[in-house]
Amino acid sequence: MGGDPGGGSDALAKGHRPVSLRAIISAQIRALGPMPVSEYMALCLGHPEHGYYMTRDPIGRSGDFITAPETSQMFGELVGLALAQSWLDQGCPSPFALVELGPGRGTLMADLLRATARVPGFREAARLCLVETSPALRRVQADTLRQAEPVWVDQLDAVADLPLFLVANEFFDALPIRQHLRTENGWCERRVGLSDDTLVWGLVPVQPLGLNTAIGAVIEHSPAVETIAETIGRRLASRGGAALVIDYGDWEGLGDTLQALAAHQPVGVLDTPGAADLTAHVQFGALAAAAVEAGAQLSGFAEQGAWLESLGLAARSDALSSAVPERRAEIAAQHRRLTEPGPKGMGQLFKVLGLTGPDAPAMPGFPPPEGTR
Ligand code: SAH
Repeated sequence: MGGDPGGGSDALAKGHRPVSLRAIISAQIRALGPMPVSEYMALCLGHPEHGYYMTRDPIGRSGDFITAPETSQMFGELVGLALAQSWLDQGCPSPFALVELGPGRGTLMADLLRATARVPGFREAARLCLVETSPALRRVQADTLRQAEPVWVDQLDAVADLPLFLVANEFFDALPIRQHLRTENGWCERRVGLSDDTLVWGLVPVQPLGLNTAIGAVIEHSPAVETIAETIGRRLASRGGAALVIDYGDWEGLGDTLQALAAHQPVGVLDTPGAADLTAHVQFGALAAAAVEAGAQLSGFAEQGAWLESLGLAARSDALSSAVPERRAEIAAQHRRLTEPGPKGMGQLFKVLGLTGPDAPAMPGFPPPEGTR
């Protein structure tokens, strides 16, 4: 340390800094007690130095998971046409904020922009804003989307105060959740604790939740999801626009849905902090309620397969196959993966939620509301 020009205390601090995320989490649990699942998730995914999304590009064949836009260009194209149709239906507001939450590699937005290039006025009116916390993925997005001159922000609140046309695909599933359950002895929160230096699950008694659920059933709840849904709702209410939220999950909660994935394989949630993707199913009912409470209008809720088909996926798939006949089989396989039911397909597992400003025409692709069918 003798040769260190004046940085002695710095070097000392560095020497004592825990070197792995596991060590950081363990130290925090030793100091403060068992950690809520939400805090564990937030650290694993978003720790500035060791967080899963902060350090890598996890998406695609060589990454840990493949999303719908990475499966087929048709996905982003149809999302684009649905948003552009709503923009036309709402009188072509100009300028407007074209926003994507968690754009990943920028593939969906690139397909969306290409598909909407021929909608008169749309591109000229759009101010592209990407909500992304990961420096690694911002770099990939900059490469993919440079021409569209995007602006990046860390949070939706920072987006320009304009009519909002927004898409979020596989974004909300990465937001931290909390887990509670009712035991024989009352309500508990599931937390991450330590036993002999190993991360373990534990239960900590909490105030009663006032819900009538079966003993042992896990209830998930995401304050982060609701906060962002509220921000979307407020903006749609004050400025108009439309939002599409696409993710796995359902209207209601489905019990314990927290899962970890590395190299396309499930792994233990506590096994490799910061090195595996952590997600939970999205509870669309709670998300929609928060947005509607803030003034948005619920436009529709559908399974991804049905939604894509009603927007014309079959016709798009045919047109693409005719244009590049040598890719016909590949395009057919992409079509199936996006729409098929069952565990291999995304058609039923993934859902689409549409929100608009109050009194806006319904968004395309959704079944008509109950009672008008
Ligand atoms: N939408 C893309 C990527 C999905 S992965 C696709 O469908 O391919 C999740 C994305 O959300 C990544 O870009 C990740 O960096 C981003 N992300 C995760 N948590 C975030 C947060 N709290 N704020 C902003 N972006 C976040």
